[in-house]
Amino acid sequence: MKTASIFFSAGQGPAVYPDSPSFAGDSVLAMVRTETGDRIASVGPVSSEFVSDGTAMMDGETVTLSPLTHGNAAVLRRVLPFTAPSQVLTRARTIGLGDRLGLAGDGHIALLKKHADVFPILAQQSMRELSLTERTFEDVLDSATFAVFRQGFRRGWGADGDHLKNAADIRNALDIGYTMITLDCGEHIRTQYADLSDEDAAEQAARLGIGTDSLRPFYAGTVFSVEGNEISYTEGALARLLLVYGDMLEFATEIYHTVIAPHRGADFEISIDEVMNPTSPAEHFFIASELIRRGVRPATVAPRFCGEFQKGIDYIGDPAEFEREMAVHAAIARRFGYKISVHSGSDKFSVFPAVNRQTRGVFHVKTAGTNYLEAMRIVAEKEPALYRALHSYALEHFNEATRYYHVTTDLSKIPDIRSICDAELPGLFGLNDARQLIHICYGVLLTARKPDGSFLFRDDLYTVWDEYRAEYAAALDAHIGRHLELLGC
Ligand code: ZN
Repeated sequence: MKTASIFFSAGQGPAVYPDSPSFAGDSVLAMVRTETGDRIASVGPVSSEFVSDGTAMMDGETVTLSPLTHGNAAVLRRVLPFTAPSQVLTRARTIGLGDRLGLAGDGHIALLKKHADVFPILAQQSMRELSLTERTFEDVLDSATFAVFRQGFRRGWGADGDHLKNAADIRNALDIGYTMITLDCGEHIRTQYADLSDEDAAEQAARLGIGTDSLRPFYAGTVFSVEGNEISYTEGALARLLLVYGDMLEFATEIYHTVIAPHRGADFEISIDEVMNPTSPAEHFFIASELIRRGVRPATVAPRFCGEFQKGIDYIGDPAEFEREMAVHAAIARRFGYKISVHSGSDKFSVFPAVNRQTRGVFHVKTAGTNYLEAMRIVAEKEPALYRALHSYALEHFNEATRYYHVTTDLSKIPDIRSICDAELPGLFGLNDARQLIHICYGVLLTARKPDGSFLFRDDLYTVWDEYRAEYAAALDAHIGRHLELLGC
């Protein structure tokens, strides 16, 4: 197997991961595999900075062994700066590789080494994902740091506090060292006003004391030309835009000036993707123009595109219409100096070439669920009995999971697993409805408990994934590799 060389089976004594050895001043560090798990091995002055739990003789030298704790990850980030995240969104092609399980980093990095024209966000998690998986920002960041160290990945990578909704969560992520903040503005967008006529919007704005006077000098009577696309606003349209986006603009401006700008160490993304109505080019232009006018400097903006970007399956909609709209969105982004960000980018194969074309290879695409689904496919392949138990449990708890995710899954289209043989189980991951069942139930499955409080599946799952690390890396190589190729990376 191609990627098997990034791992090896545990034998007698520690074995060095071949790409991990690194120098820090007069010290040498490496990641080693021991019988009780991976350790940071160090020789030299730096050893005293780690909290160690043993030593080993390697090549006639005494080596300090330190466990993969949060404290030791922080030391590693200090002494080997490439193991710390940095601001990578200034690069042309960037991809978010959310790793809900903390296991995908090695496979992702092995793949990235073959695709030079892309920079990854290896740590990317929302509060929703953290709470559904019972993980923390620290743990997500540390998993990425250890993978980067283990695989000697020196290109640079970022860490995204994804879909954050308030200053406290953002400050927390920044304090821990996250280098990108995605501000979820969804709760501040008043979609109930989106369909008002010009007259009704003007009337409603007047009733609420929302004046468009301050906008008139910028927009009234002006036709904006954005790479040949003409955009203009009526008075009523301006009133409607303020009704729908006024709060959102104030919220994003306040967060930017009070939390993001003073911190100086993070790329800022404005996300308006999790609303029901697609963002029209005129809305996008207005939002961008108003943000810039208020001194906000986003690195990326995530509009809500036409069609449906559901989790873990291909684009639903007309790819040609998507490309026409993407052309204008990308032109607006170029005009205002940021990148387009495409959320829920897992498996959107039919639109990736259009994203690459229309943004001229300057984009951010986020994936997460598909990395987890590949891990679950391994379970279906290697441990069919465990998979059957998970699948049945997910079916029973599907409704709970739909509280968190918008999907149009039809459970009746999923074959009854009692009627299919073990060898057919991995094939379920080729069916959209089965994919979504397993995808959105990730939290339910990972945190299900027995009456005595112990995990129903989690420990067994991690045992399987540890045993089949090389297979998981190979699966990511193929599946995420297809993403990167279609995106021109
Ligand atoms: Zn999103």
